[in-house]
Amino acid sequence: MQKMNGISASPGIVIGQVHIHRDDRLSIPENSISKEMIDSEIKRFATAREATRAELGVLAKKAEEDDNITQKELVKAHMLMLDDPEFISQVHTNLGQELKNIELIVYKTSRTIINMLKSSGDEYLMERAEDIFDVSKRILMNLMSKETVSLTDFSHEVIVVARNLLPSDTLGMDKRMVKGLAFDMGGKASHTAILARSFEIPAVLGLKTITANVNNGDILILDGNDGVVIINPDEKTLERYKKIQHKWQQRELHLLSLSELSAETKDGKLIKLQGNIEIPEEVESVLAHGADGIGLYRSEFLFMQPSSIDHEEFQFESYKKVLIGMKNKPVTIRTLDIGGDKFIPWLQGDKSEENPILGWRSIRFCLSRHDVFKAQLRALYRAGVYGNLRIMFPMISGVNELDEVLKVVEQVKYELKKDGANFNPDIPIGIMIEVPSAAMTSDILAKKVDFFSIGTNDLIQYTIAVDRGNQNIAYLYESFHPAVLRLIKLVIDNAHNAGIPVSMCGEVAGDPLATVVLLGLGLDGYSMSCFRIPEIKQIIRNISVSESEVIAGTIMEMKSHSEIEEYLRSWMNEMFDFLSIST
Ligand code: PEP
Ligand code: MG
Repeated sequence: MQKMNGISASPGIVIGQVHIHRDDRLSIPENSISKEMIDSEIKRFATAREATRAELGVLAKKAEEDDNITQKELVKAHMLMLDDPEFISQVHTNLGQELKNIELIVYKTSRTIINMLKSSGDEYLMERAEDIFDVSKRILMNLMSKETVSLTDFSHEVIVVARNLLPSDTLGMDKRMVKGLAFDMGGKASHTAILARSFEIPAVLGLKTITANVNNGDILILDGNDGVVIINPDEKTLERYKKIQHKWQQRELHLLSLSELSAETKDGKLIKLQGNIEIPEEVESVLAHGADGIGLYRSEFLFMQPSSIDHEEFQFESYKKVLIGMKNKPVTIRTLDIGGDKFIPWLQGDKSEENPILGWRSIRFCLSRHDVFKAQLRALYRAGVYGNLRIMFPMISGVNELDEVLKVVEQVKYELKKDGANFNPDIPIGIMIEVPSAAMTSDILAKKVDFFSIGTNDLIQYTIAVDRGNQNIAYLYESFHPAVLRLIKLVIDNAHNAGIPVSMCGEVAGDPLATVVLLGLGLDGYSMSCFRIPEIKQIIRNISVSESEVIAGTIMEMKSHSEIEEYLRSWMNEMFDFLSIST
């Protein structure tokens, strides 16, 4: 038995079997070699081919056992490719001429052959290109000591253990079978963590060395509430956690049973509680958790679909589906917010930036790609006739940028009218306040839009200069840093002075410790992962605006995150007994 501590990224407790996921994306190294190294590189190539032959042998045996003719033929074709004298001699020649490492040579040689076969126009040869692709990938994986596995297809329930997953991996995994996530890397506000919470999959991230400490098939207790994993627990620990798990499930059921009640404070103020979603299919969960609408639909996850589809139509259908599904409740769709940890190769190319978090992302990307931006706006305005839509722009950093955005909006409306399209021209427009410069100038920005939504995930990142996905500095990612709270207060006051509502859609909105502070500062609405809504509602129903103002006032005088958190924790513990379950 071994216990490891990480970052609690998505709550819940699961007990299950480990499945180790190793990334199968190829990142090909490039090094120059000397003439003396040619022989050893050729030897490495031969060894990798032998390892590939062994893998194919296993597949051949399985195909034989299953009497699967297609599979048998495929393996046979791959074996032939593996020994193809043309391919092998081409690799040897290129190695001698280019004097680069064997991984790069295999990659380039196979790509040249694949391109040649693909452009031949001959169906048979084009199919052979697929074989070369598969075989060369296996050889490269063996050269780089990687395993190929997929997350889309499991025959039994698993807890996925990995170095890290991209949001697109998390999106595509088999959610019926993946019961928990435990990663070496990642922070609470990373998009993979956000997706885990959306899908209600318990997750512990930032474990640093979990991939080195477990084997496939090990039993894991994963406690997403406390950020703990226990590898191969003894009987006593297992029994204890089964009881805690049961208690947690009962608590969840109890909170869910409150979903029909309104979020009204003891002194009668109605607070808007909304859900954050990433995919249209989450609408059902938003309604089941008693949300007053969708406060943030992260539209960029739609863009993880390939570029070959007609994106305006695809988006239009997706937005329409969400709007109709929400039955006229407000739906705030945020325009494309890519970049940072949401890299989309078909849109951004494979050019890496030195500082992606501060780089060509989000609204900056859209303003430099009017084709993409306008297609999205057209889809939104057209979908707007099917429900109560609001459009929100991410990562605005100042008024000139906002003016530029508003100009494109006007152009799109003009073009839709000219085309005779069916669209709703009167959709409220809002912006996210998630960059400190926008918070500081929110008095100016507020005069130009219909609403604000505070994105604390990025606002904290940029205010404290702490990468939200980096486990090494996760201790600095402080929601209650006085600088963050002062910016939040400034934004709320500026919005109200300009007569516009302000809500919050960053993760702080769903943090039970923050509810009373935000209420006291005057926040109008909270938007969060749906499963959080019943708990936050329960808190709001048990406090009054007047007492929350006193608490917010006290807190704004405090000097540090730790002082504020300690104060809030002890106040909450006295008030509520349903908040935490101690292990
Ligand atoms: C935020 O930054 O707080 C936010 C809600 O946006 P995202 O997490 O998608 O960056
Ligand atoms: Mg953000």
